[in-house]
Amino acid sequence: MRMHAIIDTHCHLDFAVFDDDRNAVLDACNNNHVTDIVVPAVKQDAWPKTIQLCAAHAQLHLALGLHPIFIDAHQPQHLVALDDEITQLNRTQQKVVAVGEIGLDYYLKHLDQEKQKVFFTKQLIIANQHHLPVIIHNRKAHDDCINIINDIGGSGGIIHNFNGSIQHAHKYIELGFKLGFGGMLTFERSRVIRNLAKQIPLESIVLETDAPDLTVERHKGKRNSPEYLPEVLSALATVKQMSLVDVANITSANARQALNF
Ligand SMILES: [Zn+2]
Repeated sequence: MRMHAIIDTHCHLDFAVFDDDRNAVLDACNNNHVTDIVVPAVKQDAWPKTIQLCAAHAQLHLALGLHPIFIDAHQPQHLVALDDEITQLNRTQQKVVAVGEIGLDYYLKHLDQEKQKVFFTKQLIIANQHHLPVIIHNRKAHDDCINIINDIGGSGGIIHNFNGSIQHAHKYIELGFKLGFGGMLTFERSRVIRNLAKQIPLESIVLETDAPDLTVERHKGKRNSPEYLPEVLSALATVKQMSLVDVANITSANARQALNF
């Protein structure tokens, strides 16, 4: 397969599961022309590691936020810290490309939905104050998510691992968002996701792996890795019946447009 420069817009390379072989993974990414990787932080006590990691590698790009899955751990003072941290980083060489990962998760029933809405809303406001886009995690909460974004406004960003309806997709696109597609596309049986990718204009799609979660078909059951992004590219090119080079170029341009690269 001929390779083309591609961007993984969502990868948790800071997670401990990569501690033993992170440099080898980054080398494999270089060999596979995965030139840029966005690493969204998930909770306040994990930020220092994510910040350090992104500062150490030019191909890694930092997003900073409080993930809804860890809602129990988040405290109001973490929102103040988020604002402060972005202000601090803006004074250094290191760029924050987005506020994220933020959002709503109603799939996991034990998570406090009211608290999630408060943290999501407040992080959207912080993103706006810093003129930053957002990286959004959403499961089973698209209507609330769209209503909140509608109320707060902002400069768009990425709906990561998009899994809503085509109507939701059009709403997000109207609100200035790109939609992230990953390893699910490589599964023959993922008809719904493949159909969505077919219907959504390529100008609104970005590639992602969501590693270490949600792997591609060929590596099913194992740790996902950003080095597998070419397989997502290939699956999307098949769905779109377009060349690899066109899909690579367009999705990479989309990622740069959506985020503060
Ligand atoms: Zn994530």
